[in-house]
Amino acid sequence: MTKKSKEPEQIARCAMCADMCKYSCPTYLATGRETLSPQKMARLIVYDQQGLLEDEQGFLNLMFQSAMCGACSSHCIYDDYDLREFIHEARVKAFAGGTIPQDVRNRVETYRQFGNPNGERAIIDKGSGDTGYFISCSSYKDEALLQATDKVIAKSGLEVRQFGGGDICCGAPLYYAGDMDGFRQAAHKMKTAIDSRQVRRLVVDCPTCVKMMTKVFEQTGTELDVEIMHTTQFLYGLIKQGRLTFRKRSRAVTFHDPCILSYDLALADVPREIIRALGFDLKETVYSGQHTRCCGGAYGAKIGDHDLRDAVTSMRTNQLRETGAGTFVTACPTCKSVLSDLDMKYMTELVAEMIIAG
Ligand code: SF4
Ligand code: SF4
Repeated sequence: MTKKSKEPEQIARCAMCADMCKYSCPTYLATGRETLSPQKMARLIVYDQQGLLEDEQGFLNLMFQSAMCGACSSHCIYDDYDLREFIHEARVKAFAGGTIPQDVRNRVETYRQFGNPNGERAIIDKGSGDTGYFISCSSYKDEALLQATDKVIAKSGLEVRQFGGGDICCGAPLYYAGDMDGFRQAAHKMKTAIDSRQVRRLVVDCPTCVKMMTKVFEQTGTELDVEIMHTTQFLYGLIKQGRLTFRKRSRAVTFHDPCILSYDLALADVPREIIRALGFDLKETVYSGQHTRCCGGAYGAKIGDHDLRDAVTSMRTNQLRETGAGTFVTACPTCKSVLSDLDMKYMTELVAEMIIAG
């Protein structure tokens, strides 16, 4: 993946662009508001840099309307540019000035009190071995996913140290709120939690956690000494090693690509390999892989805008339903939760369901 930098001429270039990427932007598609299209956001950022805006607070509020999904970056005409870097910079400014939206502030307060965005106190810490499995805040709430994970680990014959909950968190909610001091502390704490368990690799369900640990922690000076892998990579590895045996069944399955998994981690092929290995018939949506569309979860999880979330979730649900598949699967616990009208499964659940008992 091309390393993206953040140069002043990049945002100026974006502000003058034809804005065709807006047809992939969930915020624009859900609201129809030109002001919220990527190029118009860029233009406002440039105006703000030049001190031309009368309504600074209104500008900062708009910067919290982005899902930070990466569709604009993925569909951008420039390879070295990511508008989210500049939106994030505006959020850092809002946080420093004490002008973040109230819902975001509430999430930060919950995080400060509990060390996670759920307000959970209990830590899960079980198993042993040098493979770690981090239970993210979004997996922690998902009993079906936790049980499926236990089943797959047991059948694989591997020793796995599972841990998460309490104040063990990647800090993404703080990063998206613009709280970089809080995020720095969270990253450091996460490193300590991993190091103390002496694992050599760490499996993670949530693509955003993977992104934080592999691409964003470095901004805080924290470097992890372990191999971080997304759960789909782990599952596919188990399948290729012959550690799991399946009853094959022909059934149509549609995969919903989580934004961060496709756009930031470039892992769209891995879940598809798993689906084929299980013997399923893969039915693609029009908007899949590098052209996926946001599920809406980011609006609830990152910025607390539930109306916008519902509008985006409804659009994505309809797109997925159009494939006519009877089974829907994804690789992000948040996507699974917001797309619940489709009876969405996390990939581990599909794998666990197909494992031959005994
Ligand atoms: S993100 Fe890229 S394609 Fe979209 S408006 Fe900006 S420069 Fe143009
Ligand atoms: S990150 Fe996503 S929501 Fe934000 S401007 Fe880009 S495409 Fe739109």
